[in-house]
Amino acid sequence: MRMIMLGAPGAGKGTQTERLAKHFGIPTISTGEIFRSNIKQGTELGVKVKAIIERGELVPDSLTCALVEDRISQPDCEKGYILDGFPRTIPQAVALDEMLAKRGHKLDYAANVDVPDEVIVERMAGRRICPSCGDSYHLIYHPPVKDGICDRCGAALAQRPDDAPETVLNRLSVYHRETQPLIDYYEKSGRVVTVDGTQPIDAVTANLVIALT
Ligand code: AMP
Repeated sequence: MRMIMLGAPGAGKGTQTERLAKHFGIPTISTGEIFRSNIKQGTELGVKVKAIIERGELVPDSLTCALVEDRISQPDCEKGYILDGFPRTIPQAVALDEMLAKRGHKLDYAANVDVPDEVIVERMAGRRICPSCGDSYHLIYHPPVKDGICDRCGAALAQRPDDAPETVLNRLSVYHRETQPLIDYYEKSGRVVTVDGTQPIDAVTANLVIALT
């Protein structure tokens, strides 16, 4: 299965992607995660995108598309994958359709995790991430077992720099302007599956699994 996750930043796409990937036995490709790991390692790509990401803006399409095309060409993606955070613009969606067509593949689903802006703002304030393994948590909705410590690898949790309140508002406005139109784009080919992302995490996963099976 090849699918993408749509939804505002903070809608829970990352968490749901991980769970669906486990369920369907396919890898996840998170462009945000790839960028963060490059920033952390100080690679050429990381240096290029750091300031853009910290302002809550989008990395140029050309850079992002090249990175995704390279990743979906890896052998572990042969049986399918879940894209989290890509595409985020109409040109990226068109580029993805072209990448898939070139390989004789098609996109099966665009899952849309729907959460209103006011809930997003509240959620982002409590979001924490493990800088070491990338696991994500929330102080209220998905706390780690030990306060401030990653359950998976034991590293100290941190807030993403782009989860700062003023950046969140910018990311939401970028989302409405650039990414929300993708719902219509994929609706036209009947590939959108929308779930209510304000439900508890397990219920969102269960609804997604039902809709995608
Ligand atoms: P995310 O973890 O998906 O919220 O992504 C974090 C940040 O990485 C975004 O706010 C963008 O600055 C950048 N980013 C991630 N995916 C993309 C994409 N598909 N196109 C452009 N920028 C992206």
